[in-house]
Amino acid sequence: MLKRLRNLVSSPAIPARGMSGVSPLLRNDPPAVEQRAALLAGKNVPYTLKRSSKRRSIGLRIDDRGLTVSVPLRASEKWLYSVLQDKAYWVVEKLDGWQTRKPVATRWADGEMIHYLGETLILRVVPGLFAATPVHRGGELSVFIANGHGSSAAPDDETRHARFPHPNPLDDTTSHSTKLPKAAAKSLVIPQVGEGANVSLREFHVSDGGAAQIERVVTHWYRQEAERLFAERVAHYASLLKVAPRAIRLSSAKTQWGCCTARGTVRLNQQLIKLPLRLIDYVVVHELAHLREMNHSAAFWEVVGSICPDYARLRRELKSIAL
Ligand SMILES: [Zn+2]
Repeated sequence: MLKRLRNLVSSPAIPARGMSGVSPLLRNDPPAVEQRAALLAGKNVPYTLKRSSKRRSIGLRIDDRGLTVSVPLRASEKWLYSVLQDKAYWVVEKLDGWQTRKPVATRWADGEMIHYLGETLILRVVPGLFAATPVHRGGELSVFIANGHGSSAAPDDETRHARFPHPNPLDDTTSHSTKLPKAAAKSLVIPQVGEGANVSLREFHVSDGGAAQIERVVTHWYRQEAERLFAERVAHYASLLKVAPRAIRLSSAKTQWGCCTARGTVRLNQQLIKLPLRLIDYVVVHELAHLREMNHSAAFWEVVGSICPDYARLRRELKSIAL
């Protein structure tokens, strides 16, 4: 196998176009899928090689299954080698990310990029005598940190512990399956939209370094924004779907964007506030639709589709985002 392929190095990559006729060469087509390994940035990296007559270029993809390299049917070993070496550091870095499953740490400092409703905001840290509520203007979020008086930096007295790991491509369990008891009652819905937005979290005080203060303030802001926006979206879609959730709660689940309990409590992951509104809306509609259909049957998707005709695409998009 390898021998035959190496022979191809002498002939430059033959474009697949114009090869509609079956030439003698094509009878010995290399396998469509092959497991291989390459030495990249000093590491032995196993990968899946996929060949396709439809491809014109070499593509690299990294996900929970590792590295997949897609190449034109007749791509030369030389070309493949040079592309892999060219991207070696990128590949190794990305793979490390998947393998160690450690989120990229946010540097809680002026100039850091943070995510909000699908946009990237630049964090502006404004030291002063008093702490104040953050201001979101343009592409910036300004946070006001009390100088030298660490513990007064939070916009209110309580400091809540809420983890905001950076979105990372590490978790492959991004689907938000609704975990419902089999015998889920469907009628236990009492209209209390918005009321449940308060979330009790284990509270504690973080030690007051500058970064910790900034993180606390931004985290608090995220939560407030999430509570406000999610309550709004739920109210809107609940009325369209003619359902009445019992309560809305923010969740910090590690593997679910949302869920809906048998008793009609809708939980929405607070990390959603970082995603575009269309994805937030999809999750809201999805979970509310469970108040009509407590399953993922065709009937359920019909309910989702009645509000969100684009749901299949949005679902794919959401799945591509790691929680
Ligand atoms: Zn579901």
